[in-house]
Amino acid sequence: MSELTFTHTIDGKAETSKASFDVINPATAQPFAKCPDASREQLDRAVAAARTAFGPWKRKSFAERRRAITDFAHGLAARIDEIGPVLTQEQGKPLGQAKWEIGGAAHELEAMCNMELKPEVLRNDGKHRIELIYHPLGVVGAIAPWNFPIILAAHKIAHGLYAGNTMVLKPSPYTPLATLLMGEVARDTLPPGVLNTLAGGNDLGAWITEHPGIDRISFTGSVPTGKRVMASAAGTLKRVTLELGGNDPAIILEDADIEAITPSLFRGAFLNAGQICMAVKRIYAPEKLYEPLVEGLSKLARTHRVGDGMEPDTEMGPLQNRMQFDKVMDLIEDTKRHKNVRITAGGHSLNRPGYFIAPTVVADADDDMRLVREEQFGPVLPVLRYTDVDDAVRRANDSPFGLCASVWTKDFERGAEIARQIEAGTVWINHHVGSEADMPFGGFKQSGLGRELGMLGLASYMEPQVVKVPLA
Ligand code: NAD
Repeated sequence: MSELTFTHTIDGKAETSKASFDVINPATAQPFAKCPDASREQLDRAVAAARTAFGPWKRKSFAERRRAITDFAHGLAARIDEIGPVLTQEQGKPLGQAKWEIGGAAHELEAMCNMELKPEVLRNDGKHRIELIYHPLGVVGAIAPWNFPIILAAHKIAHGLYAGNTMVLKPSPYTPLATLLMGEVARDTLPPGVLNTLAGGNDLGAWITEHPGIDRISFTGSVPTGKRVMASAAGTLKRVTLELGGNDPAIILEDADIEAITPSLFRGAFLNAGQICMAVKRIYAPEKLYEPLVEGLSKLARTHRVGDGMEPDTEMGPLQNRMQFDKVMDLIEDTKRHKNVRITAGGHSLNRPGYFIAPTVVADADDDMRLVREEQFGPVLPVLRYTDVDDAVRRANDSPFGLCASVWTKDFERGAEIARQIEAGTVWINHHVGSEADMPFGGFKQSGLGRELGMLGLASYMEPQVVKVPLA
């Protein structure tokens, strides 16, 4: 068991709870640490502390808040070597990638505070001056998933706090520990009550969404939970953003250089064991390039080093939890029942403790398979054939999801033309996976509601107000 102790951060102070739960290391399937389980009374006190902190925090200028968030970012970066192994042990990802996530979070915290929503004069016609100004909303309830606990929380913290709000942040019960350590950084760098971190089960999430003292919900997680969050937030008409699941298509055009793009496609599908909302989840390839692409991907899959993230050579860790492992194995079993399908790499779990699945490539997949229609959120990639690119776009769009997509071609402008026809919040040309501070991120259709990052993300943490002033 870990020798570290983990505490909530409420009003700038460490707190434990009467109740606790085990955190499982997915590489061993064994508990490795205990996490305090916040009570409703602790949530009430965290919300009250955030409410008290809101007054002085909202009166600070953007520049003052930027300075405080920069201190927080530097404090986080200074503890990468300590927080990294905790993130690897609770989440499963290789240590280098865990450290990259924490470093990336520190970077994004700063980069996202390099913009400002300025008041505008909409009209000044001699009779009236009409101003548009922005107010922070109040207390934000932030709820994060288990795949990228730190960087996804950082996105919420950056714009939520920078806009002048205060926050209660809840990590997933599968990966709460690194986030609680991030709360310790907040104790040292931010005024008490501005950022409170509380760990607990799904009940704690539901209490947050219905809490009358919370004004805004920022949720990242699955579509079914997102729907529950929206329904619950309706009780007090909280402002809500939902960053939900995806089933991202990658469309390969006939002129693509298969040898050059295969490693990028592979990374886009298998990074973090495929547990990325915006991973490549289905590939559409033209007949001419189909076999070389399947062969190239399968070769990479067969040689990809899968193991415990604490071992230095590991390139891909386990699935994060038992439920996700079972779900992905069930999709693999369902795939095997389709007669014409070829599994050209993987297709099985690893014979060792922990939730390991071999990187799997599925050739001759068809549109109606569950693996193609559902979000697999794991290391299993279906490759589909197409003959007509308009038909590939139609099939790519035939989904309730619409998070991200990509088009792969040497002709960038033709790629952009096709990108504009795809129903997704972000479409890359010759790239897949990644977020940038100034690029608004979010989903079409059931992949979400609203945007995080960029000016649209910052604006979503503020309430616009119009002031109409007579001039004569
Ligand atoms: P999940 O929906 O099971 O849980 C997400 C969070 O919601 C957890 O903190 C959980 O405790 C909490 N929660 C559970 N029930 C709740 C309730 N009734 N009310 C409030 N909160 C509740 O999601 P997950 O399995 O942790 O994450 C995987 C999913 O997240 C995938 O579908 C993935 O695509 C999606 N995701 C989306 C993005 C994005 O930016 N669009 C990013 C990462 C992950």
